[in-house]
Amino acid sequence: MIGHPASVVTAAVFDTKPYDREALQRASANHGIEWRFLDFRLTKDTASAAKNARAVCVFVNDELNRPCLELLAAQGVELVALRCTGFNNVDVDSAKQLKLTVSRVPVYSPYAVAEHAVALLLTLNRKIHRAFNRVRELNFSLNGLVGFDLYAKTAGIVGTGKIGRATGQILRGFGMQVLAYDPLPDDEWAKQTGVEYVEAPSILLRNSDVISLHTPLTPETRYTIRAETIELMRPGSILINVSRGALVNTKALIQALKSGRLAGVGLDVYEEEEGIFFEDLSGGVLHDDELARLLTFPNVLITSHQAFLTGEALTQIASTTVANISALTSQGSFVEGSVVT
Ligand code: NAD
Repeated sequence: MIGHPASVVTAAVFDTKPYDREALQRASANHGIEWRFLDFRLTKDTASAAKNARAVCVFVNDELNRPCLELLAAQGVELVALRCTGFNNVDVDSAKQLKLTVSRVPVYSPYAVAEHAVALLLTLNRKIHRAFNRVRELNFSLNGLVGFDLYAKTAGIVGTGKIGRATGQILRGFGMQVLAYDPLPDDEWAKQTGVEYVEAPSILLRNSDVISLHTPLTPETRYTIRAETIELMRPGSILINVSRGALVNTKALIQALKSGRLAGVGLDVYEEEEGIFFEDLSGGVLHDDELARLLTFPNVLITSHQAFLTGEALTQIASTTVANISALTSQGSFVEGSVVT
């Protein structure tokens, strides 16, 4: 590329938070990467901030639709390096047509995400979030805090990739029976961990006390949980979603919560989280009425897409991202399984 010394790659990092900056800087010593840290998200309106950069580094809520990708390509960007696993926010076909390479982090601590899913489950079931607040107010009453034993109950894992398997394994450790659904089952893992695959998601929904979603967001998985599938769920069951917000239809979920059908819902992701999650909006007004409604239910626990947020995961994300960006120079190559286009 004209104007770029071969050994130094400028990478514009969108939606940067202090923990991203720290991990990327630590991982990139002597890699010849010049970081341009930007605290706003990448959209078609902000794409000009990638001027003279060969790579952009993006996260889950950057919007890489065709107009945005066209602007990046026109400015000479060669690589979109996602610092996450999912790439549902990138128009991959357009990226291919525009000859933009798209890379991601195919693997990082699945335990970080699985453990967060289980943290949400335990907190909700034993009502730790309510107990914490009560005790701080010197309210030592236990009324309304009854949960259920997880031991001998049934958990349903939808999607048994890296994170789904880690979650299933933890729940087996509690003595739960674990059912799983995945169009590509891992029979060896199931045998080893005592997990039972079912033939259809409906069987899993009908027979589980806890349902945890671990699929990527695709046209097929969008609204896995919607009015008709909520009907199949056991009354009093708990739903956990740490994968992608649009796996759950929020309107249908709110109806189910209003009717008291579900014992609890733990969400680390939300359909309309862009522009809300990761931001400090505490001094302002929340304009999203559905999120506001969800926050009123005592049996709904929401975290702001933080399941990945452990030191181990950040270090692994940064080292894969740095390797992928370095692949633009003669010194590096893409990490196996990273390239999406
Ligand atoms: P993975 O690719 O290892 O596993 C995904 C699994 O889903 C695969 O086994 C696949 O066969 C299965 N699957 C696909 N379509 C399905 C369907 N219709 N029904 C059932 N199963 C289906 O991915 P992973 O590393 O386990 O990650 C899963 C998802 O978790 C990611 O796509 C991402 O969206 C999300 N995630 C969230 C966070 C967070 O911080 N909240 C962090 C990392 C990943």
